Amino acid sequence: AKERGRNMYNFFSQEMNVKAHERMELETSLRAALERDEFFVEFQPIVTARTCKVVAAEALVRWNHPEQGRIMPDSFIPLAEETNLIVTLGDWVLRTVCRKMKQWADSGVPPLRVSVNVSGMQFRQANFVDDVAKIIGETGVDPRLLELELTETSLMEHADATVKSLFRLKELEVGIALDDFGSGYSSLTYLKNFPIDRVKIDRSFIKDVCETPDDKAIVEAIIALAMSLNLYIIAEGVETPEQVAFLQARNCDEIQGFHFYRPLSEEKLLELLKSL
Ligand code: C2E
Ligand code: CA
Ligand code: CA
Ligand code: CA
Repeated sequence: AKERGRNMYNFFSQEMNVKAHERMELETSLRAALERDEFFVEFQPIVTARTCKVVAAEALVRWNHPEQGRIMPDSFIPLAEETNLIVTLGDWVLRTVCRKMKQWADSGVPPLRVSVNVSGMQFRQANFVDDVAKIIGETGVDPRLLELELTETSLMEHADATVKSLFRLKELEVGIALDDFGSGYSSLTYLKNFPIDRVKIDRSFIKDVCETPDDKAIVEAIIALAMSLNLYIIAEGVETPEQVAFLQARNCDEIQGFHFYRPLSEEKLLELLKSL
């Protein structure tokens, strides 16, 4: 038994070494990828529930890996978050999106609200708001078209500092959306005190909203709450006409999901906007 215990120990520690090694490699290649400009951004259109007209888009980062091809954010954002690289990557995404938005405006593309994901670690940097102000100033983007998506979890930590930062962001005239709403621990009190413009209902509640009474009740409650707090509401992950009808009947404001659009390249997005 002792022998087996030792073998198990060896097995696990080797396993852990492999994991740690893989992580270090991924971290190194993430850092190199930033330097080599291997990241790019796609845009998923968001429509009004009432008229299904495109009113906004969410910017989503991808990694064009030299050997593995396109890598989706769920495979590298969590690691980037652990290693602080998320701050550099997040800064890159925000700057890139703002630069593009300014180019679109200059070439006569109709104004479109674009939201950018901000990770908790990025938001908690002492100079985050200053960096946003700097990027807005340097790119010349219209801040009223820019929205930052923050998850409820990242807002709930360090609530005092959070409220200050959010009000400073509002002074810059950027919009603030609460992402993945309902998936973390939310407090209605906080929601009331935060200067939030929009709430995005997490995809997990939308998925079975037409079949599962609990999800239905939750989505209805979130919409009612948002309405009473004068918040706009976006439903994410909408894939079926039944889900669309459900949300329309409950006066949800906006819809994002594969039923209408998948994330698009910048080129495809501009084609779409011109065709509207
Ligand atoms: P998220 O912020 O919740 O973004 C929405 C995700 O849901 C996107 O996945 C989008 O492609 C996917 N989605 C949209 N509609 C549907 C649908 O109808 N069905 C299904 N099954 N999925 C749908 P994506 O692009 O893989 O991004 C995953 C997550 O990675 C994002 O979730 C966000 O948390 C993170 N992420 C993406 N870009 C950035 C970024 O620039 N910065 C940070 N910090 N995180 C990012
Ligand atoms: Ca998001
Ligand atoms: Ca989300
Ligand atoms: Ca998510």
